[in-house]
Amino acid sequence: PTRFDSPTLAGRIKVSFEFFPPKNGDMEGQLWESISRLAPFNPDFVSVTYGAGGSTKQPTLNTVSRIIKETDLAPAAHLTCVEASRDEVDEVAREFAGAGVKHFVALRGDPSEGVGAKYRPHPGGYENSAALVGGLRELGDFEISVAAYPEKHPESPDFALDIDLLKRKVDAGATRALTQFFYDNDAYERYVERVRKAGIFIPIVPGIMPIHNFAQVARFADMCGASVPELLARRFEGLENDPETRAMVATAVAAEQVYDLVERGVDEFHFYTMNRAKLVYAICHLLGLRGNGSNGNNGIHAAA
Ligand code: FAD
Repeated sequence: PTRFDSPTLAGRIKVSFEFFPPKNGDMEGQLWESISRLAPFNPDFVSVTYGAGGSTKQPTLNTVSRIIKETDLAPAAHLTCVEASRDEVDEVAREFAGAGVKHFVALRGDPSEGVGAKYRPHPGGYENSAALVGGLRELGDFEISVAAYPEKHPESPDFALDIDLLKRKVDAGATRALTQFFYDNDAYERYVERVRKAGIFIPIVPGIMPIHNFAQVARFADMCGASVPELLARRFEGLENDPETRAMVATAVAAEQVYDLVERGVDEFHFYTMNRAKLVYAICHLLGLRGNGSNGNNGIHAAA
């Protein structure tokens, strides 16, 4: 592939988009504007996050239900097992399945005191995400994706433990890993090598976080254990009050990252949209996808 959008890329790249459930009517409007704009790219699936401890159960369920009713998109519901009993989690999974969900992103979640607080399994709950994957497998024939950490999970003392847990998730039935966002492609490539050496052969789909607001992303990266290269900071320097230029720079930065990953053999991307379409739209376009309905389908139909 070349570094430029070319016919060799179109038809080869698969994308998925992550959204979060809206908290109010305005946010719902923004979410649906974004879904409508991105749907014509024909994503492999669109995922909807789930507040740890069940805090967004209803909004997540409402969002995936509406996606099923009003679009041709395949939704994936995130599900966490932190601070919930096994019965509670199973019940939520059954409700989602009843609404038509066939794909779960199975996660442990973080304690409600926040990222960094010590995780303790709920008595009678799933011990971790591998146990949750096993539980979901018993409940139905779902597609199950899980999380992976190219720069390792902040709680993990080393990569070996992290990758061992990923292996347990795969052995329990996970068929795809979506990575924590990262900006260091070398770290991703090293991680995939380690994972393959450990005998794990599922797709490790890179999670791409376009930078809407550098300071916010840097804070978030710090909490998640993702490194932020110095060069990235310099690129956004002085643009704090210039959203238009920031968006152009963010598109260029993300395009550079995904092109480099394509050159390293990646052909599948998971975008953290933050419920905003603009940057993701431009990056997908640069990846050779077309969102102008030229594939004959805008992915949305009227509510039944
Ligand atoms: P696990 O895979 O169970 O474990 C995470 C890490 O903890 C392991 O890698 C390991 O380092 C350590 N660990 C686990 N067990 C042990 C042990 N016995 N001993 C020592 N160390 C151990 N959070 C939400 O609340 N809602 C969401 O919708 C959501 N979506 C996400 C989507 C993606 C793609 C990603 C990457 C993360 C998402 N998260 C979400 C965040 C996630 O819940 C947190 O990162 C959480 O801290 C770990 O979840 P996990 O499923 O990776 O956990």
